[in-house]
Amino acid sequence: MSAVPLRNNKPAASSLRSITVLGATGSIGDSTMDLLRASPERYQVEALTANGNVEGVVKLAKEFNARFVAVADESKLGELRAALAGTGIASGAGDSAIVEAAQRPADWLMAAVSGAAGLKPALAAVDRGATVALANKECLVCAGDFFMDRAAKAGACILPADSEHNALFQALASGSREELTRVIITASGGPFRTWAAADIEQATLAQALKHPNWSMGQKITIDSASMMNKGLEVIEASYLFALAPDEIDVLVHPQSIVHGMVEFRDYSVMAQLGSPDMRTPIAHCLGWPDRIPGRAAPLDLAKIGALTFEAPDYARFPGLKLAYDALRTGSGATTVYNAANEIAVAAFIAQKIRFGAIARLVEATMNEWVRAGNLAPLSSADDAIAVDHKARKMAATLLPQIAAKAS
Ligand code: NDP
Repeated sequence: MSAVPLRNNKPAASSLRSITVLGATGSIGDSTMDLLRASPERYQVEALTANGNVEGVVKLAKEFNARFVAVADESKLGELRAALAGTGIASGAGDSAIVEAAQRPADWLMAAVSGAAGLKPALAAVDRGATVALANKECLVCAGDFFMDRAAKAGACILPADSEHNALFQALASGSREELTRVIITASGGPFRTWAAADIEQATLAQALKHPNWSMGQKITIDSASMMNKGLEVIEASYLFALAPDEIDVLVHPQSIVHGMVEFRDYSVMAQLGSPDMRTPIAHCLGWPDRIPGRAAPLDLAKIGALTFEAPDYARFPGLKLAYDALRTGSGATTVYNAANEIAVAAFIAQKIRFGAIARLVEATMNEWVRAGNLAPLSSADDAIAVDHKARKMAATLLPQIAAKAS
């Protein structure tokens, strides 16, 4: 049975739900807390986590009367304990404390730690058969070989929180797997949608951070500008819904109103629409299988007027095509794609490489990985983390020559 549930797999409704938010101080965390804040009588916060933002997570813990708070940065334990003194809220620090937060018995958990660091805590929640709203893409991109299988075996319920996958999740309910012909993930096209390749090559950090529609964390905003984010989402969709690369299309849709579509064999296409605000897909996950009141602006299509669509340009956005290559290669190649991209984005932020070099570094790392004969299926978090570390090292080694090369 798939870990992504069908509508009729309805769990018993409980009046008070206990909630854990991993990555509570981030952009997704903020949207999640906003939804919880709107109906405090419905939720008991079990655990909240952050990386190093003690002030932010403690403020939330006090507001929501959380039972446990963890920060990943071990050096902040003293600061955390001092800030929580007298509250009775338990606390911990280090990666193991984030895993402990995930293991605590919450009914519903938001997995919104950024990056590969989110994998082990998400797996800890999956292993206890939890209902997990999955925002962290890296869980699937780095560990897709086994993440969903493990979730299915543990009886965990994975609710896709990323807007495009949440849209597909909603649209998929209109037909069976056998009736599906393809899914379509939309992409805003980012700030460089209409730019010439030569201008994209030279784009600055400030230009890359100006997303036309969505307000998100820095890394994902840069990934949107390079369309690497869409590549990560193609990989995510493949693992989440067990789809072949050929069954996943990307369509550029600058207004970001249609988030995803599913085409069935009679050529009916079911779409999910909404304002570009992560609180809508998160509300869908939080309420599932029921619907709770949303917090985003209601959609006013008359005001928007026109919805437009165009094919993606793989020549100007080569990172998107590389995602399909990684999926077809399999056996850890998607982990390499993600790791190399994280190194490339960090180098771009540090002004060590040009914007155009992000995709070149990812491609060079993937090629070197295959050439070195490193491909092997991944079966555990440790396997995935080992590939992630090795690929990061390889990307860091290749970085100077990519940085030196003109486009
Ligand atoms: P942010 O950078 O805004 O927040 C990340 C959160 O994770 C923060 O709470 C941060 O803590 C915490 N964190 C960072 N590093 C670690 C670590 N090593 N160990 C433990 N906790 C850590 O990210 P977003 O909220 O934008 O994104 C979170 C995830 O959701 C990502 O995987 C992203 O791809 C995905 N996503 C995001 C969307 C969005 O709209 N933002 C949309 C769809 C998916 P601190 O504040 O202390 O640094």
